[in-house]
Amino acid sequence: MILISACLCGVNCRHDGCIIENEKLQKLVSQRKALPLCPEVLGGRSVPREPAEIVGGSADDVINGFAKVMDITGKDVTDETITGVLYVVATVKKLGIKTAILKTKSPTCGMGKIFDGSFSGKLIDGNGILTAALLKEGIDVYTEDNCAELVKKLLNEE
Ligand code: SF4
Repeated sequence: MILISACLCGVNCRHDGCIIENEKLQKLVSQRKALPLCPEVLGGRSVPREPAEIVGGSADDVINGFAKVMDITGKDVTDETITGVLYVVATVKKLGIKTAILKTKSPTCGMGKIFDGSFSGKLIDGNGILTAALLKEGIDVYTEDNCAELVKKLLNEE
């Protein structure tokens, strides 16, 4: 069993209310090889919702209380984000999950690049808060951009 960002496999949990269909990733879920979770919704945020970015530091800074997650209206959504991340990390540990496929660029699920906190569309190096927390737990994190080989293997297509 792997963890997957729920929005990558047809779940309506994105901030903009759009649904992403991905046949292979949805197949992983239907075969019970992937568990789809959305940390932001699990933390209590709605669908749709205002987009949010990490402001004033990195994901680790948010975890350590030195930076915040703010939405585009200036509302502080750090607590909801951290609540959802803690829930997902606890679930991953309980189920012994060792691998995740997460959505790029999200302040929560992003890996490698995230938006810079100015809501101007500028990307910077960094991870989302869930990604940072999972990496600390030794979880292998892939994104929708580099998971093709892993997915093929999980679906026994090679
Ligand atoms: S990127 Fe993560 S937090 Fe954002 S909608 Fe997808 S699963 Fe939820």
